[in-house]
Amino acid sequence: MSDAPAQPFPIVLATRNVKKGREMVGLIAPPWEPNPRLARLVVLTLDGFPDAPEVVEDADTFAGNARKKASETAQSLGQWVIADDSGLTVDALDGAPGVYSARYAGSHGDDDANNRKLLAELTGVPDERRGGAFVCCLALSDPSGAIVLEAEGACRGRIAHQVEGEGGFGYDPLFIILEYHKTFGELSTLVKHQLSHRARAFERLRPGLEHILMNH
Ligand code: IMP
Repeated sequence: MSDAPAQPFPIVLATRNVKKGREMVGLIAPPWEPNPRLARLVVLTLDGFPDAPEVVEDADTFAGNARKKASETAQSLGQWVIADDSGLTVDALDGAPGVYSARYAGSHGDDDANNRKLLAELTGVPDERRGGAFVCCLALSDPSGAIVLEAEGACRGRIAHQVEGEGGFGYDPLFIILEYHKTFGELSTLVKHQLSHRARAFERLRPGLEHILMNH
């Protein structure tokens, strides 16, 4: 057996959304599930890469945007990169806001305006027709820009009639988890990290990631 120290394996998370990035850091190798196969992982954020490109998210699917963000960022930085593209799909709105979730009300990342617009669009819609799902697609690119892993996760819930809670980000204060009768805005990060679309997508990505780490 070799005594050589394990080589660190850096992976960059390609998001400028600070709260989403924080969730990704917590989910890639969760501290409540110690995993020696992921011990070499060094998780980096775009904070350390001020020249990272601003990727245009113009694909018409979450998976397409995740692949594009991962691949273009990896190629530009020469690093392994994981990108997350995610959003909310509401049944009564034929899947809107969908891939436009971040800019539903016009300006990118204005969570309050997006929540107001969603409530306005659902005016008069009764509880039983306010179902929807958060969806998260993850893509891992190697440093050449080739996508080597993908995973998707979803989490169903119901859109509230008013914002409740201040936790999380985005549409969390409007997204009721029926089993808890509470929104993600009211539930703890611990609960969100067990149930969310992002948690489920990372769970599915992890075996492939372990395999890659074993072979590099
Ligand atoms: P992206 O950064 O282009 O993937 O945009 C994701 C957008 O979808 C965010 O700006 C939020 O509006 C919404 N979103 C994605 N994941 C979540 C979540 O976990 N909670 C609440 N909103 C989310």
